[in-house]
Formats: sequence, C-alpha cells, structure tokens
Amino acid sequence: MFYQCTSCKLIYDHTECIWKCPKCSGLLDLQFTFEIDIAKLRNRKCTLWRYREAIPIESDNDIISFDEGMTPLQQIVVNDYPVQLKLDFLFPSGSYKDRGSTVLISKAKSLRVNEVVEDSSGNAGASIAAYCAKANIASNIYVSNKSSKGKLFQIQSYGASLHTIEGSREDVAQAAKDAANRLFYASHVYHPFFYHGTKTFAYEVCEQLGWKVPDTIVLPMGNGTIFIGAYIGFSELVQLNIIEKIPKFIGIQTKACAPIYKTYVNQSDCLQDIIPNQTVAEGIAIAKSARWKQMIDIVQFTKGQILAVDEIQIKSALIDLSHRGYYVEPTAAAAFAGVTQYIQNLESDELIVSTLTGHGLKTGELIDIMNC
Ligand SMILES: *Cc1c(COP(=O)(O)O)cnc(C)c1O
Ligand SMILES: [Zn+2]
Repeated sequence: MFYQCTSCKLIYDHTECIWKCPKCSGLLDLQFTFEIDIAKLRNRKCTLWRYREAIPIESDNDIISFDEGMTPLQQIVVNDYPVQLKLDFLFPSGSYKDRGSTVLISKAKSLRVNEVVEDSSGNAGASIAAYCAKANIASNIYVSNKSSKGKLFQIQSYGASLHTIEGSREDVAQAAKDAANRLFYASHVYHPFFYHGTKTFAYEVCEQLGWKVPDTIVLPMGNGTIFIGAYIGFSELVQLNIIEKIPKFIGIQTKACAPIYKTYVNQSDCLQDIIPNQTVAEGIAIAKSARWKQMIDIVQFTKGQILAVDEIQIKSALIDLSHRGYYVEPTAAAAFAGVTQYIQNLESDELIVSTLTGHGLKTGELIDIMNC
C-alpha cells in the first residue's frame, strides 16, 4: 500500500503523514490491493465495514466506527419516473461525510495521531469531530462564520476546537492549511483515505440492487468527495468483475457557484474563475475545487453530464422532498433538483440512483429563510 502523486508519479509510504506531494504539491492517490468476496458478506453486520477487505486499514484494532452505513435505498417516483434514492442523511453525524471519516480517522488512529485539523462548510467538520471524539483524538475544525448555526453547535458539542473564520471558503481552507504545518490534516478534500470510505456508496448501491449496476448516478459536485468516491467504488467493482460497467456520472452544481460546470461547458483546460453568489446550497458552494479535473475526467469518461440548478429549482426540490417526508438540507435538495432536471430531458429508460446527502435538522434557519 502506498501513495502516488498524480502529477510527478513519485511514490510515498502510506505511514507518512502527508496530504499532498511533498515534492510538487500534486494530489495523492492511494494504491493497494482490495478484494470483495460476495459470499462472505452474508454473515456480516449491516455496516459499511462489511467490505472489510476493500478498506485500506490494516488492523481491526484501529477501526473507529459507529456501525455506520448501509443506509436505505428507496424508490420514489419523480414525474412518473422511478428513481432510487440513497438516504445518506441518516448517518450518525447527519451526512454521508461519515463514510469518509470512519476510514480517515481509523487511519489517523493507526498512525497514533493525537490531534488533527480540518476545514469545511460544516458537515465534514462535524463528521471528523464526531469520529475524533470516539477515537479520543483532539480536533481543530475551521469553518466559515456564515455556516449554518446547527452545524457550528454540533462541532462544538463533540468537544472539538471550533475556529470560525471571516471570509471566503478559500480563506477558511488557508487557515486550516497553516495549522496543518504542525498537525495531521484530516482533509476530506485532499486525503486519499477519505475517498476510500466514500467509495462504499457504490458498493452498497450495487449490493442493494442485487449486484446490479445502475445506468446513471446523479450526485452533488463541490469538492467531489462523494462524486469521486463513488467513481472509485464502481471502478473497483468492475476490476473485481462484480459488475460489468461504470454508470454514467451526472454532477450537480449550484448556479450561484458553478466553476466546474462553467469549465465543462466552455471545454476549458483550466478551472474557470467565478464570483460566487449567495446560495442556500452551502455544502457545494466551492469556488476552487482542488479535484475539478478529476471530476471532469469522470464525466467525460462515463459519457455523463454536469448540470447547474438555480435557487428556485433548489427551493421547489426541497418542498417536493419534505412533502414526501424527507427533511434534508438545501444542499441535498440541490442534487435532487438536478435529478428532476435530468429526468425532464430523458428519452430512454434508465436505472437512476441519487442520494440525499445531509439532514435538514441542522439547517432550520436556512430552510426558514427560504420560506418553504
Ligand atoms: C459535502 C456535502 C456535499 C458535496 O460534497 P463535495 O465533497 O463538496 O462535493 C453535498 N451535500 C452535503 C449535505 C454535503 O455535506
Ligand atoms: Zn508530485
């Protein structure tokens, strides 16, 4: 098991506390041998750790887990069209980020780390703080002072040190990177281990469909932790000959902050500059996604698309969902707005899977502002 720089291809041992290439600052990938034996799964607990041989943690003793995962996959009907929705807002900390945190904080535990730093728009910070609390690791969480209050309260109540930063999401990230010079950077954006947790989304979807692969996956797209993670999961299942193809990947951005959408539409080779506008989809309002190129590559390779949804679409998606009994945060509704838009222009029959990423209970104020 080793890290490889995606730019200069240098290789680093997995026990090094690094989050980007020390030589060229390139993004790191993790290489290791993984395995899934379907026959073995039958007798295992209904958690994401059931795919134990595909999760790169060496010793069971280091696993930090709330028995999370295997969230329900439910069918709903959108404009007469069936869609499968993964209820990932039902994770212990209220968002799918727990998929990544259980693996990344287990890795930190195995490295005997005793203090970490992380920055986020809220949910990743809350999730890392929760797992650090369980692992007895101190956590420093950097967030914007404009993040939803519910997320800030949650981070603090886990016992984390909350650092609220005035400024853009990029300013928040910079403050965390400064702290990361002396602390383990438990970054959901950069750290490869996080993605080897979020990839379990793909495993679970296929297992819940009886090891059938969906035709189309619709996912929110900000920093790409679920988008890229799901892609890794489906690719691994193809490599293991468990499924025969990788689904089409549809990425959803919020129009108010859609740099990847703009780059994709303009067919540009560098990430387009944008001036972010106000949006209720705080979880995907990312102006400079470090992994933007990987996301566009995935879309092109799978013959997918990138769509951008506006505030009105997000609001009606949120109302649609809550009137069906799903109380999620506006960022999750943004992805569902993307599902609705995608279906409108659909001609063929497709098995579509999407996800509800975050719980509404943290963002009551935001939902109130929207007059839903
Ligand atoms: C983090 C998050 C997303 C999107 O994740 P990215 O990694 O930024 O692409 C979507 N919805 C919710 C609720 C989130 O917390
Ligand atoms: Zn490098």
